[in-house]
Amino acid sequence: MDRLTCLNPLTGQQVADVPIMGTDEVRGLVASTRAAQEEWSQRSLAQRARDLQRLRRSVADRADEIAGIIRVETGKVLGEALSEVVIALDTLDFLARKAPSFLLGRRAGIGWLYQRRAGVSYDPWGVIGAITPWNYPFAIGMGVVGTSLACGNGVVLKPSEYTQLTGEIIADLVGKAIDIENLVTVATGDGSTGAALIGAGVDKIAFTGSTTTGKKIMAAAAESLTPVVLELGGKDAMIVCADADIERAARGAVWAAFYGCGQVCMSVERAYVVDSVYDDFVEAVMAEARRVRTSDEDEAMVGSLIAPFQLERVDSHVKDAQAAGARVLLGGRPITGPGHFYQPTVIVDVDHEMDVMRHETFGPVLPIMRVASEDEAIRLANDTIFGLDASVWSRDRKKARRIARELEVGTVLINDHLVNYAMAELPFGGARQSGFGRVHGLEGLREFVRPKGWVEDRLALKREPHWFVEGSGGEDLAKALIDFRHGPNLPRRLSGGLRLLRGVLR
Ligand code: NAD
Repeated sequence: MDRLTCLNPLTGQQVADVPIMGTDEVRGLVASTRAAQEEWSQRSLAQRARDLQRLRRSVADRADEIAGIIRVETGKVLGEALSEVVIALDTLDFLARKAPSFLLGRRAGIGWLYQRRAGVSYDPWGVIGAITPWNYPFAIGMGVVGTSLACGNGVVLKPSEYTQLTGEIIADLVGKAIDIENLVTVATGDGSTGAALIGAGVDKIAFTGSTTTGKKIMAAAAESLTPVVLELGGKDAMIVCADADIERAARGAVWAAFYGCGQVCMSVERAYVVDSVYDDFVEAVMAEARRVRTSDEDEAMVGSLIAPFQLERVDSHVKDAQAAGARVLLGGRPITGPGHFYQPTVIVDVDHEMDVMRHETFGPVLPIMRVASEDEAIRLANDTIFGLDASVWSRDRKKARRIARELEVGTVLINDHLVNYAMAELPFGGARQSGFGRVHGLEGLREFVRPKGWVEDRLALKREPHWFVEGSGGEDLAKALIDFRHGPNLPRRLSGGLRLLRGVLR
């Protein structure tokens, strides 16, 4: 079997060497996880919640170890690595507390079928194939795994080729907290392993990654009609209104553009600033951005990009903008030395034809565009194939909410950005080519269950009024129902009711 090597982005040293699993190995994992899932799904909801709480406690106990692994695999600063642990813990806590009552199912209305009861049960899919990216390997991986487990599924996890150890520690944590072997297994390898997983008989694919790969996954899953949840790329916009608190907006912009070295799917990648406050905003951004320290040292605020391909992408967007007339006010270059560091970069005089405004940059770059009005900002913010998150910055709550309603995104924030992912109860996901389906919240739970309707009779009649009646095709009954339930006035409804009763008593 071919092997895959993971390198520490900060030092270039090898941190993992794993096999690249192919179709046979992945099918084997699906089979063993399916056997484990059958046992797991028999556990009561209360027992599953207790197991998830045990998992949460072991994640908390091993927080430093987990963050250390995230740091050596991704080059993040330790604080950001630990924030992944915080997000995962909150998600597990939410799942343990809220999933059991949601999973009880619900009763449903019975329409005109009066002597019935009906409802919905939320059954597990079976085995979820989780394919995850490198940028939030633990928060996303554990989020999908935890939600899948809460709903009674097993998981075959295919972590990114850059973060194999993080994938393995997720499986290890589950294995130690829940006494069922192979409930979560790890398919080690690259994109070819992910492709093998889609055709390996999983019941649903939960994919988080780029829009380009998401399209391939959907096409491949179409072959077997395997359902997919797609959490894809973004190009988040922030709109700064004339009445915004400029200091707060500027600080927020710098944080949300450079946090995680800009490698967050909902990083601020475009700022649209109304003309009258544009100069003040740019000045405030520059003051804040100059404070941001990027290095491999512990006190750095921003870490390394993941790998050389990211450095090339970020630099090419900056160079493309410069060649088309944009001005780089700060940064604009890779930092030489070990690691894949890029200077925090602020660009102005940008237009909507530039790569930096159209494609996901996924780096520490903040392009700022002057706009004549809020309407122009809304139009430009929506002028993209993406639709993950967006934010509006204004002191006028009513106006901000109006603008928020016009933004075609999965989540909109007012005077804030990025933080929504830390709210385990808030559904997260995209519009347009940022994907579909949700993680987090009750809407996220829904993705990992198969709703099954059920109907029961209550009176055990020998014959139902709508069953075959000699000499009738059922028009009388249908007309009686229309009159009884939808008739224009009381006499018609009463007449319909009487005809219906006669049909029942016949
Ligand atoms: P990617 O699409 O390159 O890879 C994601 C995963 O897909 C990896 O595990 C990879 O091995 C696998 N893969 C690659 N080709 C495949 C194929 N043909 N079939 C099956 N699996 C395949 O993404 P990435 O570079 O790891 O992550 C960065 C991207 O993820 C960015 O676009 C970012 O915006 C996005 N992202 C989105 C969210 C979200 O929730 N919307 C969250 C984090 C990251």
